[in-house]
Amino acid sequence: MDRTNPESTSAHNPGPRRRVLIVGGVAGGASCAARLRRLDESVEIVMFDRGPYVSFANCGLPYYVGDVISDERRLLVASREMFHERFNIEVHTDTEVTRIDRSARAIIVRDGRAGNSRTEHFDMLVLSPGAAPIRPPLPGVDLPGVFALRTIPDSRRIRSWITDHSAKNAVVVGGGFIGLEMVENLIHRELAVAILEKLPQVMPPLDAEMAVPLMEHLAAKGVQLQLGDGLARIEERDGGGLVVVAESGARLPADLVILAIGVRPETMLAKDAGLEIGPRGGIVVDAQMRTSDSNIWAVGDAVEVHDMLTGQETVLPLAGPANRQGRVAAESIAGRATQFRGVQATAVVGVLGLTVASTGASEKGLRRAGVTSFQQVYLHPGHHAGYYPGARPIHLKLLFAVPDGRILGAQALGFEGVEKRIDVIATAIQFNGTVHDLAAAELCYAPQFGAAKDPVNLAGMLAENVLNGDMPVADWADLDRTDALLLDVREADEFGAGHIPKAINLPFSQLRSRYLELPKDRDIWVCCAVGQRAYFAARFLTQHGYRSLNLSGGYTTYGALKAAGFAR
Ligand SMILES: Cc1cc2nc3c(=O)[nH]c(=O)nc-3n(C[C@H](O)[C@H](O)[C@H](O)COP(=O)(O)OP(=O)(O)OC[C@H]3O[C@@H](n4cnc5c(N)ncnc54)[C@H](O)[C@@H]3O)c2cc1C
Repeated sequence: MDRTNPESTSAHNPGPRRRVLIVGGVAGGASCAARLRRLDESVEIVMFDRGPYVSFANCGLPYYVGDVISDERRLLVASREMFHERFNIEVHTDTEVTRIDRSARAIIVRDGRAGNSRTEHFDMLVLSPGAAPIRPPLPGVDLPGVFALRTIPDSRRIRSWITDHSAKNAVVVGGGFIGLEMVENLIHRELAVAILEKLPQVMPPLDAEMAVPLMEHLAAKGVQLQLGDGLARIEERDGGGLVVVAESGARLPADLVILAIGVRPETMLAKDAGLEIGPRGGIVVDAQMRTSDSNIWAVGDAVEVHDMLTGQETVLPLAGPANRQGRVAAESIAGRATQFRGVQATAVVGVLGLTVASTGASEKGLRRAGVTSFQQVYLHPGHHAGYYPGARPIHLKLLFAVPDGRILGAQALGFEGVEKRIDVIATAIQFNGTVHDLAAAELCYAPQFGAAKDPVNLAGMLAENVLNGDMPVADWADLDRTDALLLDVREADEFGAGHIPKAINLPFSQLRSRYLELPKDRDIWVCCAVGQRAYFAARFLTQHGYRSLNLSGGYTTYGALKAAGFAR
């Protein structure tokens, strides 16, 4: 018996080798293949990808277009040869899987190089075909100069187009993650950029008011925002170039157009094979990533997943879940009972120096899911101690269940330390944590990194104050119809520079000597710049027999809500 050769058929492995075939060799597929090999040396693993590469960094593609990553080879995380040499995994690139024959346990593959098709048999099959960019059936979307970004060849084509046509301006259709990353990178290539977005905001996962600082930032960086306006068609311009025509009739000139209006799960193979497809358009899988056929698993952008916060099924095209699902599928194939926990939509995007991150549900997502027993707090703390030079605000919104305080979601924007706070909150959500856990969390502190009360602690403390009645909050949405007294406790000069209509000014610095001027028979809604002085004032008033509520986030949040039209 040869003990050195793992491929030899030994007394330990007398039967025929089980064959595991994997469709799609990038995030989910490659993770599955590599994990499976680490768990089981006895199986044969063969991976197919219709593209020329496997295991490439899709997430790096916008930065390759922007020339931040200038060497294309850096996008290749692993190669065919590496899979073969290190893991004994056979990889077929330029090979499209065109059909699954479930009864024969076989797939039909078309070899793009040889130009022929063949049948490959499997014992187990894993589908990780990803998602396809949506190309709306509108006039002009197939014109030269109109691109979507999904693969290395796509990014190569965009790079060449910019150079060959000396492109000066671009229109990005769609203001989500990929659209915004493309905006940043096209600006890096010194193009003037306009965003055309159907919604009245960019970054659809954010609540409308949280997207406002981002939109202001984009405008300040010279990005033209054409919001609340859809794509009607794309035309060729006399004398060269393109014109993007919006539904409103607005005409945006462009030397190149990026379509980034979202992706849809690649389910053609699964559908044709009769596998169950869910209402959100993804392949239905169980917690071990097994499809409705017990010999077929599916992972990544192509599947529907369970949203841990809303309890609903959803699709979430992100790399982290795809990688973890690939690992879970491998463990399942290897006979382990590991389960995928579901998703919480933790995501981050960098836009021209600003970081935008979120985890869990948004307010609008909760409302859509019919959740009503929740509250939110807004805060705007510095990313580190204010006395240390360079502190910059983080705009943070925390959503939590009432009355148990379970964390439901958080959104944050700022220039420093944003993703660190969201990652901490995301981890707390994984453990089914509450706002009390955030208040009590012991986090890193030295003046250049954080504060003795970190923004995460502060968010938890504010939410605790709401839950235990120390800081009742008024609902901003009721501002127009309330007959409460609006009390602004900022200093007179701050008040003079702008305030909520109908608010009166009594600075917190004078409150102890002048509070008797306030009525006891009316609710008093207290506001300041970011919420802190209002909290102190409301505590003082409450203890003196007044009915006071805090306007969470203060005038800073008011500005964002007003700009967003108090949309929910
Ligand atoms: C430009 C861009 C930037 C992104 N940035 C981020 C980011 O910053 N953070 C983040 O979390 N996520 C990001 N994503 C999303 C992330 O890349 C995906 O969620 C992840 O790659 C999904 O993994 P997957 O295995 O499901 O699909 P993919 O990684 O897309 O792999 C699917 C593969 O299957 C192949 N395939 C499809 N059908 C067949 C077939 N019939 N036969 C053979 N092969 C087939 C495809 O060619 C493809 O190579 C980004 C995506 C893009 C496009």
